[in-house]
Amino acid sequence: RAKRLGPGIHQLFDEHMDDDERAKILLTVDLTAAIGSEQIVLGYQPIIRNSDGLMTGVEALFRWTHPTLGYISATRAIALAEESGLIIEIGNWVLETACGAQSAWTRAKPEHPMTVSINVSAKQLMDPDFADRVAVILADQGTNPESVILEVTESAVFDGGPAPKANLKRLQTLGMRVSLDDFGTGYSTLTHLRTFTTNNVKIDQQFISDMANDRVAAVIVTSITNLAQSLGASVTAEGIETELQQALVIAAGADYSQGFLFGRAMSVEAILALL
Ligand code: C2E
Ligand code: MG
Ligand code: MG
Ligand code: MG
Repeated sequence: RAKRLGPGIHQLFDEHMDDDERAKILLTVDLTAAIGSEQIVLGYQPIIRNSDGLMTGVEALFRWTHPTLGYISATRAIALAEESGLIIEIGNWVLETACGAQSAWTRAKPEHPMTVSINVSAKQLMDPDFADRVAVILADQGTNPESVILEVTESAVFDGGPAPKANLKRLQTLGMRVSLDDFGTGYSTLTHLRTFTTNNVKIDQQFISDMANDRVAAVIVTSITNLAQSLGASVTAEGIETELQQALVIAAGADYSQGFLFGRAMSVEAILALL
């Protein structure tokens, strides 16, 4: 929406608007301008397979360095993008860029298969053309659908009417996998799992950080892991920062781990150097 406002943007402001709202509008205008510039990049964070400790994939994470404000968190930037509708354009760029990176790693090291996990927001999933667009992007980038994992939250899949599930089911038939992100933080997860087959469950880092000191959190991680695996889904533990946390999620049966213990989000070249 900000884009269409163009030079008349100042007309948006009126005396009733509070400082937070003004700041948000200005930042949204800056985000519009940042699309396609060097301010915006993707970082790739390693995902480790626990059976052998190998890096088998990465998660693509949005990184915006604002020219005067510096680093803006992905949570903040993506929220602005969702509210303004910019998420469609940004989301397409993320898909293109992440798939391009996956293809580059595959060309350079075909003997080391790598998946790329891409976060997809509710608004993208509600677009009836989403599945078609993703299929075209993968074809353009020369990316094997089986190397792509779409990370979605429960609310994005289940609260948006029929389109999100239809899009995801179609992409699954093409070979892409779906991961339920931040799992355990939403509602009625058990009912949801009856209407949609997920390929992976990503246990929210809140449970992981609480596990060592909170017996209930540890029981929840083990129970989610057993439930997901019984339904045929793999389990990823995210936010692993310590050896103790890693030992606990391995004991709970998690298939994959991700977190600062293994590495932060890094460039395409840095990932290639690790392969
Ligand atoms: P998420 O998808 O749950 O991503 C995981 C977040 O946890 C990332 O934060 C990552 O940097 C952080 N993280 C990973 N390991 C650790 C750890 O060991 N400790 C701690 N404390 N944090 C860890 P980030 O990059 O700030 O992203 C925040 C959220 O923004 C993401 O949460 C995701 O919901 C959203 N996001 C990021 N990139 C994109 C994108 O390209 N598209 C969309 N739609 N959303 C995105
Ligand atoms: Mg994610
Ligand atoms: Mg997550
Ligand atoms: Mg999260």
